[in-house]
Formats: sequence, structure tokens, C-alpha cells
Amino acid sequence: MGKQGRKMQAEVLAVLRRSGGPLSAYDVLGELREANPKIAPPTIYRALAALTERGSVHRLESLNAFMACKCDQHANASILSICDDCGSVEESIAPDLLEKVSIIAGKSGFQPVRHVIEVHGVCASCGTGLVPA
Ligand SMILES: [Zn+2]
Ligand SMILES: [Zn+2]
Repeated sequence: MGKQGRKMQAEVLAVLRRSGGPLSAYDVLGELREANPKIAPPTIYRALAALTERGSVHRLESLNAFMACKCDQHANASILSICDDCGSVEESIAPDLLEKVSIIAGKSGFQPVRHVIEVHGVCASCGTGLVPA
């Protein structure tokens, strides 16, 4: 991968980190175009794919969006808890779960490479509004 590609990845990652929540590839493109109007969508898609591959970014399949990884090591599966109210995403690590999922998926000879576990619901701060005082 060229220097240019790595620079783009760093910029894409910075946008996702700043946002703190999930962004679509189109959102990322819009952000980066403010500084550099010539950026083409395939550049962004390539950077996002490379970052996802490395585990620095997670793809939220159900939202068709991306978020910066909030933990450092990714030998373990992460569970992404998505708040349907405010759109915030929490990431938690589940070492046992990865093992179990790999065993179950691998029973037929399937070789798991990437795990994405997405849970939809309501986050703690949105949830408190529903509890009667
Ligand atoms: Zn992560
Ligand atoms: Zn929420």
C-alpha cells in the first residue's frame, strides 16, 4: 500500500474518532471533502475497507455505517450495542463468546475470520427517560 493510501486511512480514522458515533462512508466523504474537494468515493471505500480489515474500524452491518474501534486489541469479538434512540454505539469485548461462536460456526468445517455481533436497543442515558421518577 502506498503512502497516499496510509495517509487517507489516517484521515478517515480521525474523522470517525472525532465523530464518536457511527458514520456512513458518505458522511466520511463529506467531512474530508471540506478540506479536499477532489476526494473520490472509491478512495474512501478503500481506506474504510483497509481499516476494517485491520480492526481499527468496525463496520456496522445493520446500519451500513462505520465506527472507530474503541478498544485496542482485537483478538476478541466485540459486541456493538447500538442505541436506536440516539445512535450511540458501545463496544464491549467478549473473549468467551468469540470462542463459542467460532466452535459453533466451525462445526461444519467453516473457518470464521471476522465476527460482528450487533445488539440493538436503548442506551443507559436514553433509557432513563422512560423510567418513572
Ligand atoms: Zn473494536
Ligand atoms: Zn441512546
